[in-house]
Amino acid sequence: MLKSGITVRWLLTTILVIALILACISATIVLGLRDYYYDTVEGKLQSLGQSGVIADYFSSYLDSADDAFSSRAQEYVDNFQDINVAELWVINKQGDIIASSTGFISESEIYPDYEDALQSVSGRALWQGAMSSGEKVMALSVLLPKTNGNSNGAIRYIISLEAVDIQVWKIVLVVSIVCLFALMLVVISGLFFIRSIVTPVKRINAAARTIAAGNYSQKIEINKRYDDELAELAESINYMTAEIDKTDKIKNDFISTVSHELRTPLTAIKGWTETLLCINESQDETINSGLRVIQNETERLYSLVEDLLDFSRMQSGRITLRLQKIDIIAELDDAVYVLRDRATREGKEIFYSSPDYPAPVNADPDRIKQVFVNIIDNAIKYTPAGGRISIVAMIGSDSIKIKVADTGCGISAEDLPRIKEKFYKANLSAKGSGIGLAVCDEIVSLHKGTLDITSVLGEGTEVCITIPTLPVNLSERKDS
Ligand code: ADP
Repeated sequence: MLKSGITVRWLLTTILVIALILACISATIVLGLRDYYYDTVEGKLQSLGQSGVIADYFSSYLDSADDAFSSRAQEYVDNFQDINVAELWVINKQGDIIASSTGFISESEIYPDYEDALQSVSGRALWQGAMSSGEKVMALSVLLPKTNGNSNGAIRYIISLEAVDIQVWKIVLVVSIVCLFALMLVVISGLFFIRSIVTPVKRINAAARTIAAGNYSQKIEINKRYDDELAELAESINYMTAEIDKTDKIKNDFISTVSHELRTPLTAIKGWTETLLCINESQDETINSGLRVIQNETERLYSLVEDLLDFSRMQSGRITLRLQKIDIIAELDDAVYVLRDRATREGKEIFYSSPDYPAPVNADPDRIKQVFVNIIDNAIKYTPAGGRISIVAMIGSDSIKIKVADTGCGISAEDLPRIKEKFYKANLSAKGSGIGLAVCDEIVSLHKGTLDITSVLGEGTEVCITIPTLPVNLSERKDS
């Protein structure tokens, strides 16, 4: 489409410049030819009005009576050879036209060249203008020799410029058609050229977006027809993507291996801490509190390792669900139960409301609970003491909505669109890996549901999980 892309810029710059150049060349050709034609007309007038020939013809009649001069003038007009090229007038000493080669004399005619000739030293003057009929002409007045300083009239030759002008207009038309044709050729060939650039650029751009979204298997198709810079760019991007893909795989494998390696000793530490706490209970308070610190920190490390394992499973598409028909409300009850104590300990109030009847869904109970725990855990984590977390479940006709809203720090509009990205943390000072929401989003998507987050910085956040429900057997609801 014509946006402010390369095509429009090319049309505006190149085509405008070419059009301007063509217009200048055409104007030069047309004006040059017009001048040439006008010069030819002037040359013809000058060759007709040779002063010597005229003076010879009228020499014996200059001082004779008007009648004798008139008949000599008529004779001169009648013998005029170039009647098809020019018109001839004879003007007497009073300045009146007394003979014309067309036989038609107009009283209202103007002939400024005659006045100019009277003033000029050479006794000749040229004029270009319109006759009383509107016809454009070029005229030359040649004075008859003066006697005692007095004028004896003049001979005037007139050539119409209409035919010349028609010829000039014809040339203008031909030159314009040729220029338009040339411009069209430039536009068509240019558009083909621009398309051969814009189309691969668009393809590269689309591929770059896909790669930026994390799909490193994306390859840009290379057009073998043009082995040019764009094909080279596509090749470089393909090479770059392959390299990123390789290092990404190495990184994922490393995370997976390290997480597995860490989990085994952590499980042992966790188990032994619990055992020692049981054995040592109420004997030595210092050892007890030390063991509790180890227990809490191991718990934290363990959940971080679990997050990392989930991340590497997600990266390699290995998050699998053990789907079964479950009551999702029961899983939510469990998650709230697990976290309520912690919230109370931290001085945060939990308000929980759910329907009294079950909501059957086809889901993996562990994964679904993991999502609830993660979202509620976040709400507790990012809400200061004295704040409130509200968890509300609402069953619709074909889905269930679980809304977890808090009165915490909120997320800025800038961070909100990126919050579900892996490792993205809006709050860098808070503890956490930044993977939780990405994993939750993936799990919810695998259940064909959605996870939407709305938030206002400084006011709070609301996370809404929507999961499709199975058709309900009404007797189930009545029984419960
Ligand atoms: P983390 O382990 O860092 O909490 P998550 O993926 O769960 O990772 O969350 C990503 C980021 O989203 C967090 O670092 C935090 O900045 C922001 N966030 C998530 N939930 C909330 C919430 N309820 N209130 C404010 N910020 C939140």
